[in-house]
Amino acid sequence: MSCIFCQIIDGSIPSKAIYQDEHCYAFADVKPQAPVHILVVPRQHIVSIAQAGKEHTSLLGHLQWAAAEIARTKGLTQGYRTVINTGEDGGQTVGHIHIHLLGGRPMAWPPG
Ligand code: 5GP
Ligand code: ZN
Repeated sequence: MSCIFCQIIDGSIPSKAIYQDEHCYAFADVKPQAPVHILVVPRQHIVSIAQAGKEHTSLLGHLQWAAAEIARTKGLTQGYRTVINTGEDGGQTVGHIHIHLLGGRPMAWPPG
């Protein structure tokens, strides 16, 4: 299996688990861009939201809920940002859907 996030989910690549349930696994980003930088990934391998279908809508909603739940447990009361990079122009480097949860500092807008 060549997908690094599938290997993180199955434990063959170690990661720092933050939250997990039957649908998703969340872990600390190896190269954090903020004091809190967590990746929320579905256990199901889907390349990107560009490849997701209508049958995935509840799963995608669950991922966003999980990100908000993690933000609550991390005490991000000042706010935070959730980001899904998609494809080359979107800056996606790993081909398995993931939500970045970034917090602990003010975020700039627009993004670079
Ligand atoms: P993307 O660029 O696809 O939106 O995000 C991929 C993210 O995965 C990057 O922030 C990168 O630091 C993170 N990442 C890549 N490889 C690993 C890894 O092996 N372990 C962890 N924890 N994060 C990784
Ligand atoms: Zn995968």
